[in-house]
Amino acid sequence: MLKIEHLGIAVKNLEQSNMLFTKLFGKAPYKLETVASEHVSTSFFMMGDSKIELLEATNTDSPIAKFIEKKGEGIHHIAFEVSDIYAEMKRLKSEGFTLLSEEPKKGADNKLICFLHPKTSNGVLIELCQEIK
Ligand code: ZN
Repeated sequence: MLKIEHLGIAVKNLEQSNMLFTKLFGKAPYKLETVASEHVSTSFFMMGDSKIELLEATNTDSPIAKFIEKKGEGIHHIAFEVSDIYAEMKRLKSEGFTLLSEEPKKGADNKLICFLHPKTSNGVLIELCQEIK
C-alpha cells in the first residue's frame, strides 16, 4: 500500500455537510459525484496529498444508510492507494483478510476499488484504490 488516498465520512445530508466542511477546511469540494452502483452521492475535498470524501446514501439499500443507522454519522472508511489492485487483493486474501468483492469495482473519483471487511481488520473498513489511467 502506498499512502492514505482518502478518508471517507458518512453523512446524512451531503449538501449541509458540504457547507459545514467548506467552512471547516476553508475551501470547497473539487468534485461531486454520484456512484449509482454503490447507492451513494459523494464529494471530495483535496487536503494536500490526501482527500476527504463525504458520502450520503441515495436510498435505504445503501451501505452508508446501514452504517448511519447502526453507528451514526462519522468516519466510515480509510482508503489506501495501491499500484496494482489485483495483486494487492490476491496478497491480502492469502493473508487471511476478507474482501467484500472478488473483483475490483468502479468507484468514485476515477478509481478501481475493493473493500476489506472490518471484521478482519480490527473494526476498520479499508478501501483499496487504484487510479484508472
Ligand atoms: Zn472511499
